[in-house]
Amino acid sequence: MKEVYNSETFRKSGHELVNLLADHLAAAQQGSIPVLPWKTPNRQVKFWEQYDLEDGNATTLFKDIIEHSIALNHPRYAGHQISPAAPVTALASLVAAFMNNGMGVYEMGPASTAIEKVVIKFFAEAIAYEAGADGFMTSGGTLANLTALLAARSVHAHTDVWHAGHAGQKLAIMVSAEAHYCVDRAARIMGFGEEGILKIETNERFQMQTDQLDAQFEAASKKGLQVIAIVGSACTTSTGSYDDLEAIADFAAQRGIWFHVDGAHGGAAIFSEKYKSLTSGIHRADSVVIDCHKMLMTPAIATALVFKNSQNAYKTFNQKAQYLWKEAAEEEWYNLAKRTFECTKEMMSIKFFCLMQLYGKQGFADFVERLYDLGKTFARLIKKRPQLELATEPECNIVCFRLYNPELDVVENNRINSNIRQKIIESGEFYIVQTTLNNIVYLRTTLMNPFTTETDLENLLLMVND
Ligand SMILES: *Cc1c(COP(=O)(O)O)cnc(C)c1O
Repeated sequence: MKEVYNSETFRKSGHELVNLLADHLAAAQQGSIPVLPWKTPNRQVKFWEQYDLEDGNATTLFKDIIEHSIALNHPRYAGHQISPAAPVTALASLVAAFMNNGMGVYEMGPASTAIEKVVIKFFAEAIAYEAGADGFMTSGGTLANLTALLAARSVHAHTDVWHAGHAGQKLAIMVSAEAHYCVDRAARIMGFGEEGILKIETNERFQMQTDQLDAQFEAASKKGLQVIAIVGSACTTSTGSYDDLEAIADFAAQRGIWFHVDGAHGGAAIFSEKYKSLTSGIHRADSVVIDCHKMLMTPAIATALVFKNSQNAYKTFNQKAQYLWKEAAEEEWYNLAKRTFECTKEMMSIKFFCLMQLYGKQGFADFVERLYDLGKTFARLIKKRPQLELATEPECNIVCFRLYNPELDVVENNRINSNIRQKIIESGEFYIVQTTLNNIVYLRTTLMNPFTTETDLENLLLMVND
């Protein structure tokens, strides 16, 4: 054990590791390594099954892991919605991992618990919530959406769900057909079933058709369903479309139901003067989810869940665990596990707080604006090429398009675009993904790297259409 916890060994490998990561950052930024060193899953498993760290040096292992990983710092990374972590936040993560404060109760994370409160206040102010808002951080947008909807259920079900369940009530939520799949999952986990997920059709820009809300609500009520909440997407995952949050807020207020905003990706626009109008109405939501690891430069996984009314932040888990909390009935804000799914939780607040301290709100605004602007640039390049077709005009940094040959049927066009994507990612030149909208396969890019240039994007289009 002495060797495992040896401070000098740690010092030495720590310095080596930082050198390795800094070299990787420089190489990725220069584009001198592949974005994704492609290997099939089976070959990847073979490699690691046969792996043998002969020299007993952790640095060798780290080097091999880095070389087999996708490089988010590469300017030609334009795939899923995770940010390249600001390097200093990786150092903050090291502090979090090293100190390993468990966060469940105050003593198990005095600094990081208090910092979490400061971080949530920062989000609440940017949302433009009035005093009385509160919340916490949790492990990902998926879990945060479920947590918020569980709070909505305890507030709006006719029974005291925690003690009595909701047998006899057919509860439902309303959500756009383009919402992230985790909302559907949350409703099913809560036992609402297929019937309890009212999917509202989207318009040609993939935004919820809010003029259908009344009719859908009434049809559901006729069937005996009790709608407890409506979820607005800010923005959707596939196409980056922002729902009309003002219209949804009006509807929720009129019907007396919970209004939740899934801003996992695009909620970050609240920090930008230029783009915050996309989220207009967000301050009227009962709860808002924003991922720090998506548009806010923070390592995975760190999510803010903010409630307009602080009391609601305690509603998800009305549970007594006397051995942890002396007065379970008392709402001690500083014993965070009373409100989160997690018992032990990572010290995630310190990574985001580090960016707040170093770069302030402007740092987040710059990141969002750089990437949303780049989305517009990319759309302009696509529109210049008649063989290419945009799925919709992008509102943010998510841009979907395809190579379209009108002489071929949809199946053929789909096959061609899927093949293009596979060829591109195996080449290691770019990383992009794909999505299917109305049965049409599109190439999907999320411009996540602030160093991606117009020339990079031109080169990507050359690869698509060579
Ligand atoms: C990414 C995303 C999620 C899921 O968040 P995770 O942090 O990956 O769990 C939920 N909703 C939307 C709109 C997203 O873009």
